[in-house]
Amino acid sequence: MEAAAPVPSVQAAVLPGKRRPERSCVACRRKRPQGEFLRLTRQDGVWTLQQGHRSGRGSYLCADTPACWAEKRLKRTFGAQAAAVSAALLARAT
Ligand SMILES: [Zn+2]
Repeated sequence: MEAAAPVPSVQAAVLPGKRRPERSCVACRRKRPQGEFLRLTRQDGVWTLQQGHRSGRGSYLCADTPACWAEKRLKRTFGAQAAAVSAALLARAT
């Protein structure tokens, strides 16, 4: 008898029990994997760009889409701090 040739597994794409949290950008509402976002968290009422460790509640913005960093698109989420958040995002990009 001949051994069957190994068949590439397609099961890896859908692992039961392993959830990948999907986030959506607060500016354009696009859903993407979490790794493609910049994360902002609010601490003591101040929104700050967070890199690295994750804690608390956060908002997400497309990491590669400067259009999503425009102040007018941030107003809905960040209100009066939209300008500061926009400036922080733009400063980060350079
Ligand atoms: Zn976006």
